[in-house]
Amino acid sequence: MSTVHAQLAANVARIRARIAEAAARADRTANDVRLIAVTKYVEPQLAQALVEIGECDLGESRPQELWRKVDALGPLDASIRWHFIGHLQRNKLERTLPHVAWIHSGDSLRLLTAIDEGGRALQRRIPVLIEVNISGDATKHGFQPAELPALGETLASFTHVELRGLMGMSSLEGTQDDARREFAALRELRDRLRNEWPRGDELRELSMGMSDDFEVAIAEGATCVRIGSALFEGLR
Ligand SMILES: *Cc1c(COP(=O)(O)O)cnc(C)c1O
Repeated sequence: MSTVHAQLAANVARIRARIAEAAARADRTANDVRLIAVTKYVEPQLAQALVEIGECDLGESRPQELWRKVDALGPLDASIRWHFIGHLQRNKLERTLPHVAWIHSGDSLRLLTAIDEGGRALQRRIPVLIEVNISGDATKHGFQPAELPALGETLASFTHVELRGLMGMSSLEGTQDDARREFAALRELRDRLRNEWPRGDELRELSMGMSDDFEVAIAEGATCVRIGSALFEGLR
């Protein structure tokens, strides 16, 4: 193993231990929480090293960067589940969709409609999470919590979108307590939509928590944490 692989493996082990501890404190297990390694800050070689040490859920937030890594990783790409986590413009969708396992950032009805059409063209149902603007930051994408209950019928009509759950980000300037409150609100919204939406039973996932707040996210029920900077400490 190279020193890069060893350092990366140590970082991953440290994060996974913290995930397991946070899960245990919430009477959950580490298996309930999927670690998505966000590679947007690093070169393809480091993404490749992650796969080589067994981390196969990778996240990218920009289409061009995803395409670049897909090209660079080549055949290895078959063992990767790419999670798209950023704002996706519809004109980039066609080239992006074939590569992604899940889209966490379904942030508008127009995008969701386009994903449904794109999935039909690929003859594949695309797992999508609905992005919710839980912090109220004006610069953030996503649905307002209050507009979601009324959208259940429309979303139920999509034949090639699998509604996996909800995704949210805490406010940039907030404290851990603020983050925890925002994540709890997302979980409560998910529970409500589960009961009210015609296809609410599909909403199993809560994608919330990043390097600075993944432990409080797990305390509030996160099933996916999206971690970038903490994984690459000492390597960038
Ligand atoms: C960059 C990014 C992350 C990871 O952020 P870190 O703070 O580096 O862990 C998670 N989610 C989204 C949507 C991102 O854009």
